[in-house]
Amino acid sequence: MDFHTLGLDTGLLDGLHAMGIRKPTPIQAQAIPAVMEGRDLIACAQTGTGKTAAFLLPLIDVIHGYKPRVEGSVRALVVVPTRELALQIDQQMQAIAYFTPITSMPVYGGSDGASFDQQKAALSGGTEVIIATPGKLLSHLNLGYVALKGLEFLVLDEADRMMDMGFIDDINRIVQFLPKERQTLMFSATMAPPIRALAKNILHDPVEISIALSKPAEGVKQEAFVVHEAQKAPVLEHILRTNEASSIIIFAGRKVEVRNLARHLKKQGFNAQAMHSDLEQSEREQVLLDFRNRKLRILVATNVVSRGIDIDDIDLVINYDVPQDPEDYVHRVGRTARASKKGQAVTFIAEKDMREFGRIEQLIGYAVEKLALPAGFGEGPVYRPEGVRGKGANGSRRGSGGGKRGGHNGRGPGAGGRRR
Ligand code: AMP
Repeated sequence: MDFHTLGLDTGLLDGLHAMGIRKPTPIQAQAIPAVMEGRDLIACAQTGTGKTAAFLLPLIDVIHGYKPRVEGSVRALVVVPTRELALQIDQQMQAIAYFTPITSMPVYGGSDGASFDQQKAALSGGTEVIIATPGKLLSHLNLGYVALKGLEFLVLDEADRMMDMGFIDDINRIVQFLPKERQTLMFSATMAPPIRALAKNILHDPVEISIALSKPAEGVKQEAFVVHEAQKAPVLEHILRTNEASSIIIFAGRKVEVRNLARHLKKQGFNAQAMHSDLEQSEREQVLLDFRNRKLRILVATNVVSRGIDIDDIDLVINYDVPQDPEDYVHRVGRTARASKKGQAVTFIAEKDMREFGRIEQLIGYAVEKLALPAGFGEGPVYRPEGVRGKGANGSRRGSGGGKRGGHNGRGPGAGGRRR
């Protein structure tokens, strides 16, 4: 499945393309059609699953494609526990909606946010999507100018955390201000009874989605080297020479890299073979057989091998590059330590892969240990997983947030009017 088949607006597809996002994650594949059909939603999903885009994409699609019920009203309200999350969601919103005229504004307390007047202007008309913390939103609501008559979406993100932080009363009060006829989407990492009770109160016949979070097996010792591209090959050779593992898989993303790397290692005297989808079936079988029988010590492979093929007793998995899909990391690392044996997984993180590796660490829920490069191999770059965040947004903010509507492309709100 890809984003085209979900029927999303072309502006959104362009935004995703600019962000380098190609394939929907499982929660996106399930949530997007349900929301576009007008259903309420309760989703059990954690950070790292792509949950933010799972609600932003269909919500922006609907807002962009339909005329507003009431002119000058906020159309979607996303309520979140912390200002950090509000900012993070707003950043993703800017990137995703960059090629649409839909605007957003984060609303939270403290001095580094938009000024109170800016927030007031956004809330009293003109800004379609508001991403707010409960306390600050309530103080605006109590002052009476927040334009909510045309509200179409309420999203509660990280509902369990909002409960833990004592926001339940605030949420119930906020809901009193909203029109009854709306779509409500609720996301939570857990489904404890109080969350269920809240859902029962504010959701109408919701679609339920539960995304199990992948985690590598406990027996895998996970480590990483932060490296410059040029350091990869020498450090790899060093590992292969010094590590006692007798069965090793090296994963690389592209076929050409797999081929070159296997050739290079063979030249250096290592017992290595390449494995990728261009090989004949019989060649693949032979390579796998040799690997299983321990005639072959090192298998250099693309993702083909990371899923599905069951080879036991691999001692060491090396990610020569960081997989694009965080789930692939879990699958790759899962080649080792099968059936509760011990295993080791080493990942090379080059500068261009830091953001991807940050997402993997979010998915698995902890930081992987970064090792110093062996003596004599120089210094690697500093690990900065957030360094290149929001690269699709081109750094510019759309709309003034204060009454002015329309994005950089000059189209008016609801200009699409595609489906009505
Ligand atoms: P979230 O679970 O919403 O916190 O998202 C975690 C990260 O995954 C964010 O950096 C997103 O930009 C990224 N992301 C969201 N959807 C996708 C996707 N379909 N493919 C790859 N990355 C994604």
